[in-house]
This record gives sequence, structure tokens and C-alpha cells, in this order.
Amino acid sequence: MRSSNSGVIFNVQRFSVHDGPGIRTTVFMKGCPLRCLWCSNPESQDFSPVLMARDILCQGCGACVKACPQGAITLSRKEGRKIDRQKCDNCFQCVSACLYQSLTVCGEPMSVDEVMDEVLQDRLFYKNSGGGVTVSGGEALMQSRFVLALLEQCKKENLHTALDTSGYGKWQNMKALLPFVDLLLFDLKHLDPDEHQRTTGVDNKIILENLKKSAKYTSVWLRIPLIADFNDSNAHIKKIACLGKALGVEKISFLPYHEGGITKNRQLGKNACLLKMKAPDDKHILTLKGIVEKNGLNVSVGN
Ligand code: SF4
Ligand code: SF4
Repeated sequence: MRSSNSGVIFNVQRFSVHDGPGIRTTVFMKGCPLRCLWCSNPESQDFSPVLMARDILCQGCGACVKACPQGAITLSRKEGRKIDRQKCDNCFQCVSACLYQSLTVCGEPMSVDEVMDEVLQDRLFYKNSGGGVTVSGGEALMQSRFVLALLEQCKKENLHTALDTSGYGKWQNMKALLPFVDLLLFDLKHLDPDEHQRTTGVDNKIILENLKKSAKYTSVWLRIPLIADFNDSNAHIKKIACLGKALGVEKISFLPYHEGGITKNRQLGKNACLLKMKAPDDKHILTLKGIVEKNGLNVSVGN
């Protein structure tokens, strides 16, 4: 585990309105033990900073080819600028050489103070909108010591805090964070352990245990990434609603699948998921909303 003094972060997103109530700053931590097939932030998965290549911005100047000590980059009229990821050792010298932002690094170490400097710039917006700070990922529990220090600092500043998590982590780490979390945004992908394992790479036993325990400590919104023909059956959503009701969660949020991760996978040199995924249509989402409401719970789409 890293020192709590710095964490690896891939984005500090100000004016976020999709990660909890009001206007928020969302701090995206790097590193995730899950490999969800529908991941919209694949740049968050590796713990270390990664090279991202936006072909559309490349001007073919060749500066990166000269800068790369590994000979990992080639430039040709036919294929344009190509990166051999097997040869690349993430030294990022090409990034410094590229004047066109075609090559960038995703992820950097930041101290709690550096993050707080950004967070505190929008204090007035939080106050006026009922917003605050959300720590997300990646999986924030992977850097729980840093996240604890950050959340403690937020509470010292009297800010509303939310933690967005897959719930996949050690209970003792999660428990240590909860006194500083006003709202837990708990991502729940599938209740069936086999389906969960097949599509995320991990079993959901720890996740469900952590959900049940953490709901006793703080307010919870269950967040469901809605994917057609995977987790959007009426019966499955009814089961989730019943679980949510039994645990006393505040709300269920549907997050319909979007294709944002496909382009990012290309930029990372990763093969995007081969399965065809899509969001349920609007009519079916309305039906699912009705099922949740019938079970006496609030429901929203997109946050
Ligand atoms: S990050 Fe990779 S491609 Fe870029 S200069 Fe270093 S080794 Fe070469
Ligand atoms: S330095 Fe940047 S713009 Fe020039 S060839 Fe490399 S990626 Fe393209």
C-alpha cells in the first residue's frame, strides 16, 4: 500500500453533476482489481500512469520516433504513427517530445494538499447546490490510506463527501473510511456470482458482504450500470430493489451503458471488448424504474 501522502490520480473533475447530489468535484483514483467488459474508464484500470495516444491529433512530425529510447514508435505514410506496446516501457519521453497533445500520460501522483487546493476552489458552488466532493476510480479502496487522509481533510473543511466504489476490497479498509463518508455510491453490477465473475473477472461475494455491512454505517445509493440482456431483466432489477429496501438504501441509480470506453481502449492500445453491448431502450428503463418505485424506493437515471 502507498504512503498516505500521495495517491495516483487520473482526473480531478470539477463541476461534476453525475456523482452524487449537487455540484461536485470528483477525484478519480487510479487502479482497479475489476475488469468490467463495459468499463467506461479503462485508463483507470492500471495502477501506474499509462500512455494514451490520440491518433486524430497526430501531425506526423516524427519527434516522438526520435525521442523513444526503446524504438517503440514508427511512422509511415500508410499506417501513420504506430506504437509497439510490447517494446514500450512507459518512460513517457515521447509525451514530452509531442507538441500536439497526441501523446499524453494518464495518471500522476498528487498529495492531499494538491487535491484539496483544487477541491476548495469550488466551495461556494458546493454550498449553493448541496454538492461536495466525490472520491471515485478506478477503485478508491485500492489506495485507501490516501483516500482516508483526503476524506478526513474534506470533513475538516466541512464538505459533503461521497465515495464511489465497486465494494471490492478489504472490509477493514472500507470500515475505516465510512466515518468520513456522507454518502456511499455503491456500484452493483450483477447479483449472480457466475455472471459477475464472467463479466468483471471477480466474484461478487466480498462485494455483497461489504454492501450489507456498510449500509449500517452511512447513506447508500445503489448504482446499477444498465446493460441490455445482461442485468436489465425485470426479475433481476426486482431482486436488486428488494435488497436495496431490506438494507434501507436511499436510492437506486440506473447508469445506462455508453460507448465511451471503446475509444479510450484504442488510445491505450488495448483490445476493446468484443461483445456487443448496448443500453436498454427508454421504454424498458421506464419499466425498470416502475419496478423499483413499486418496491418503495427512489430511483433516478444518470446519477
Ligand atoms: S513511453 Fe513508450 S513509446 Fe513513449 S518514449 Fe517511452 S518507451 Fe517509447
Ligand atoms: S510527436 Fe506527436 S504529432 Fe509528432 S508524430 Fe509523434 S505523436 Fe504525432
